[in-house]
Amino acid sequence: MEMKLFIPRETDPDETRAAVLPQHVRQLKDWGWEIQIESGLGERVPVPDSAYEEAGAALISHRREGYASADVIFRVRVSDKEEVALMKPGALHISFFDPFRQPDLVDSFAQARVTAISMELIPRITVAQKMDALSSQASLAGYVAVILAAERINRVFPMMMTPAGTLAAVRVLVIGAGVAGLQAIATARRLGARVEAYDVRPEVEEQVKSLGARFLKIDLGQVGSTPDGYAKQLTEEQLQRQREAMKRFCSHADVLITTAQVFGRRAPLIVTEEMLLAMRPGSIVVDLAVESGGNVEGIRPGSEVEKNGVLLLGLRNLPGRVPYHASQVYGSNLSAMLGHLYDREKGHLRIDLQDQITGRCVVTHGGQVVNPLLKEG
Ligand code: NAD
Repeated sequence: MEMKLFIPRETDPDETRAAVLPQHVRQLKDWGWEIQIESGLGERVPVPDSAYEEAGAALISHRREGYASADVIFRVRVSDKEEVALMKPGALHISFFDPFRQPDLVDSFAQARVTAISMELIPRITVAQKMDALSSQASLAGYVAVILAAERINRVFPMMMTPAGTLAAVRVLVIGAGVAGLQAIATARRLGARVEAYDVRPEVEEQVKSLGARFLKIDLGQVGSTPDGYAKQLTEEQLQRQREAMKRFCSHADVLITTAQVFGRRAPLIVTEEMLLAMRPGSIVVDLAVESGGNVEGIRPGSEVEKNGVLLLGLRNLPGRVPYHASQVYGSNLSAMLGHLYDREKGHLRIDLQDQITGRCVVTHGGQVVNPLLKEG
């Protein structure tokens, strides 16, 4: 029997991305799947319904109808409780989820016997790179942060020698040199900025240098990474030491981009109001960690405020500012995940909780919360 995939349009007013583009529809049709999309899926990308239809998707106007028969549902943001209740028992739902902060929603997936996969929980291991949506989106966020700063700053990024004098290159400081930070460094360098970067994980020094940026060092004593390569949480004393050194670095920066995150916890507060006061008027601060608590004091999700002439940007959903490419890579991550679960010869899905990828990102299955991280509480 043909497997059915349904892709509803996103309902969050801040969301511009679509879970798939027509190219993904074409690929999944090749596997023999029947694909339904809700009308308007690509409206904000923008990709017209007709392009999805040409790729082989059937258009439906009521999501209720799509949920009732779908074996698999793809989304950018997780469906809400009312929608989960409309899904078929045994269906598979793949989306960003943030399950640690939504215990009620986790329960509703379990009650509805829907298998929910959280794209944030895909392990950061080489074999799962094709499915790694955190990385695909973070990389675009890093790029967008620099472009936004370049557009808003009162200077040019590269050094320019003109008959009327030399314009100094902008100085960019990137705090947190993970996936987003490294892309921010690369983008700022391409625009000709002088870039400095800092991260608690000493192993990123080489990567920072290879992009042509300077790596800043702060002696914090013992720091480390988790087996997954994430930063460990610093002690309050280490954070204090870090802030003291940071103040000096911040005062030299025209653009400050922060991306520091600690998996499963609130993002560390690194840039205090005192440091912001040390920055020159006209400088720009972009906090990419704003949606998980923020690295910069006083920046709130969705806010854009000026303090003492320094513009503080806490914009949400930065990948959503390049929705075509963000949807392209996200759709490929979803398709790769489905490809991992789908046995093309037998024509069915296999949820093997012992598998090193599946076992880590499935949140609910068979009416239970099965994820070890959530079961541990
Ligand atoms: P992240 O979003 O969790 O954090 C961003 C960066 O902030 C990290 O580099 C982290 O070290 C840094 N950070 C945390 N606390 C900080 C602090 N107090 N001060 C300064 N910096 C701080 O990280 P990410 O970008 O998702 O990447 C996490 C790790 O996963 C990295 O090691 C990355 O290379 C690895 N990774 C591996 C793969 C793979 O397939 N092998 C794929 C993606 C990422």
